[in-house]
Amino acid sequence: MRIVLLGPPGAGKGTQAARLAQRLGIPQLSTGEMLRAAAAAGTETGKKAEAIMQRGDLVPDELMVATVVERISQPDAANGFILDGFPRTIAQAVALDDVLSTRTQSIDCALELKVDEDVLVDRILNRAKEAEANGHAVRGDDNHEALKVRLNLYRRQTQPLADYYRARRILKSVDGLQPINIVAASLLDAIEA
Ligand code: AMP
Repeated sequence: MRIVLLGPPGAGKGTQAARLAQRLGIPQLSTGEMLRAAAAAGTETGKKAEAIMQRGDLVPDELMVATVVERISQPDAANGFILDGFPRTIAQAVALDDVLSTRTQSIDCALELKVDEDVLVDRILNRAKEAEANGHAVRGDDNHEALKVRLNLYRRQTQPLADYYRARRILKSVDGLQPINIVAASLLDAIEA
């Protein structure tokens, strides 16, 4: 099963993707995590992405598409995957569909976590505060300024993907404001429906 998980920053994509991955026995492919790991390792991709991520901006489509195509070509993704944080633009979605179609594959399901924007800012700033209080590293883009950019880009560039996948009849939307377990169950129901 090939799944994409859509949702604004702070909607709980990472948490839910991890649960789904475990439940379905397919890998969670988080582009944000890949980029943060690349930045920490100082790779070419990491170097290009670091300052962009810090600002809350989007990394260029070509770089993201190349990263994802390489990752989904690994053996552990042969039977499916959950993409968490990709696609974020229509161009990325089209490129993904094109690559998959050359392999006679396609995205089976696009899951959308719907969360009110007012809640997101508080959620993310709390996440940063909690991380700090627990002595964990705080993400460089979990601050007011970068968050404004991230939410703005989500609205303009990523939100239209819901229509893109709705037109392909594979969009399933779930209320992301419910408790974590209920969201997880709703996502599983949506996949099985
Ligand atoms: P995330 O962990 O999904 O919130 O991603 C963190 C940051 O990584 C984003 O704010 C972007 O700067 C970058 N990023 C992750 N995925 C993508 C993508 N598909 N396209 C462009 N930039 C991305």
